Amino acid sequence: MAEAKGAPKLYAQLISSAPGAFLAKQFGLPQPEKLRRYQPGEPPLPGPVLLGGNGRLVEPIRNLLSDYTFAEPSDTKFGALVFDATGITDPAGLEQLFTFFQPTLRNLAPSGRVVVLGTTPEEAGSVDERIAQRALEGFTRSVGKELRRGATVQLVYVSPKAATGLTGVESTLRFLLSAKSAFVDAQVIRIGEGDATAPESWDRPLAGKVAVVTGAARGIGATIAEVLARDGATVVAADVPAAGDALTQTANKVGGTAFALDVTAPDAGEKLAAHLLERHGGADIIVHNAGITRDKLLVNMDAARWNSVMGVNLIAPRKITDVLVEKGALKEGGRVIDVSSIAGIAGNRGQTNYGASKAGVIGLVQATSEALADKKITVNAVAPGFIETAMTAAIPVATREAGRLMSSLQQGGETVDVAETVAWFANPASSAVTGQVVRVCGQSMLGA
Ligand code: NAD
Repeated sequence: MAEAKGAPKLYAQLISSAPGAFLAKQFGLPQPEKLRRYQPGEPPLPGPVLLGGNGRLVEPIRNLLSDYTFAEPSDTKFGALVFDATGITDPAGLEQLFTFFQPTLRNLAPSGRVVVLGTTPEEAGSVDERIAQRALEGFTRSVGKELRRGATVQLVYVSPKAATGLTGVESTLRFLLSAKSAFVDAQVIRIGEGDATAPESWDRPLAGKVAVVTGAARGIGATIAEVLARDGATVVAADVPAAGDALTQTANKVGGTAFALDVTAPDAGEKLAAHLLERHGGADIIVHNAGITRDKLLVNMDAARWNSVMGVNLIAPRKITDVLVEKGALKEGGRVIDVSSIAGIAGNRGQTNYGASKAGVIGLVQATSEALADKKITVNAVAPGFIETAMTAAIPVATREAGRLMSSLQQGGETVDVAETVAWFANPASSAVTGQVVRVCGQSMLGA
């Protein structure tokens, strides 16, 4: 993993010193919390779940999560607050949110979780219900900005046609109600009507699956390879031939294989398809992580910068997925996971090429998720915010500090935060999650 070794995390260092922490408190400056992250064997949450609301989801959820500990409203510490808001069918009913959260929110543990469940507004049964359900988005995004100490909030819209057992929702709830979603904050996730089959083990949901990760030699890609392997997948780690030793290291670390591949080569898709079919009988998961930046103000940009960024970040994922599907090298029921960026949502000065390519990735997800639905292939994207890698270590120091602090969690994320989100999309039980773009940005103010 290309962590930004020795990169000056000036503010974090100052704040973690005793005088620094004292001054920060006096002046109301942000004090980043050390986020709780996944450790095998540790409980998913820092305390019990308080489950509230009176909609169609509350009882099925209690059954699905029967291995979680549930709390009583009179308890004084909660690891998570989960509210089923599907019973709210008109604007006046939104008072239920106030009644449930106002007295309980202050008792949420550090790195605690808030999950609000609603009905997909476009599928609501009446005008009043649609208004009320859409209102949940403003509520959750505002709660995200009020939460402190590493706690996060998400809104999950569930199709009213979802089967009664809610099997399609389970993988998402288990991800959100765990330390794996540490840097995912204030996201709106839509879950379709499909059923899903729970994996034999939630600890190794990818057992027996083959996953390709591009750009796997370092940074986010190397960590994605590690996390998918941890979850049981056989990993094909791909990167440019020049990545050499670093790529071999990733492959060895994860017990997988290295595959030298420049994703922009004209025959990249064909080469990868042939390799996957010959060695593995096809792949189940492809993660298009390879990405580059070539920043310049548009007025100073040359065509080479424009074309290389577009070629790696957008044109290659589009072409490679197409070829893999056409050749049957990505199996039915497969997973395509793209890597976008908050720069593709918010735009960024000096990044017209990068911003366009990463926004194009969102279009790619939306279009191909529909086109590949008949093959039961899901297509989703992560949109990382500020993640500590070689890419962000190259940003000028002041901008870098600002990037870390301008989010509700008041810090940068780690590569593992992106990788855990990829692993949730990759889970076979996430078959009802498609066409989604989930930011991994600690509720960055950029583009929020
Ligand atoms: P990185 O530069 O550390 O790693 C990128 C990897 O992609 C490298 O190993 C590189 O060799 C490989 N690569 C580049 N061109 C390739 C090609 N033509 N074929 C095959 N491999 C190629 O970058 P990172 O920070 O780990 O970023 C990974 C992804 O996440 C990128 O798509 C990036 O745009 C995205 N992203 C990163 C951040 C962040 O904060 N680091 C934020 C938003 C999005």
